[in-house]
Amino acid sequence: MTFAKNLRCKECGIDYPLEKRTACDECFGAVGVIYDYKAACKTFTAAEINKREKSIWRYRELLPVHEIKNQVDFHAGFTPLRKCKGLGKLFGLKNLYLKDDTTNPTGSFKDRPVTIAVSKALEWGYSTVGCASTGNLAGATSAAAAKAGLDCNVFVPSQLDDGKIIPTLVYGANIIAIDGTYDQINRIANLVAEKKDWALVNINVRPYYVEGSKQLHSRFVNSWIGNSQII
Ligand SMILES: [Zn+2]
Repeated sequence: MTFAKNLRCKECGIDYPLEKRTACDECFGAVGVIYDYKAACKTFTAAEINKREKSIWRYRELLPVHEIKNQVDFHAGFTPLRKCKGLGKLFGLKNLYLKDDTTNPTGSFKDRPVTIAVSKALEWGYSTVGCASTGNLAGATSAAAAKAGLDCNVFVPSQLDDGKIIPTLVYGANIIAIDGTYDQINRIANLVAEKKDWALVNINVRPYYVEGSKQLHSRFVNSWIGNSQII
């Protein structure tokens, strides 16, 4: 289950249901997911969480996907911390650690938000997902789609390096290459997605996609449940 209860406009504060929505009807502000933290506090404890397997979904109560059957997991998260002595010395820090998200399945932190966005698309019954991307997001979305058994279409600039295209093709996605800037590609992708009824992770599923990004900030979990483990 999840304690996500609604979407809320970040500008004017109007609430909306947990629906496919990226902006507020009143002010065009971005919307974000709101949780019932009081209710979550009663069951969502550090002791309970520590019994669970090391997966992004360990924290499922604070992620906006309702049923476990829709929680796609291609093993993003739980990346290592690297002690950086040289960099630490430069800043006068004895214990400087960097979170190495290059060890995620497709080599980037994008695997985290895509996990949540594709799960939400699955929950809503979409058969096709995708994204507008200049590289890393294309690979992450295609990998998550392959795991979820969904079709995947990614919109990329036509001049993108082969090195960034090949991983996406390996996971079976369709590549739609467009001559134009990223902003132009983004707008075209949005228009096509509306017409075809596709869920594009960083466009029309964006409020949920962002919920995956928050996991990288360990403060989110640590400060809330007093758990020293980071994901
Ligand atoms: Zn608003």
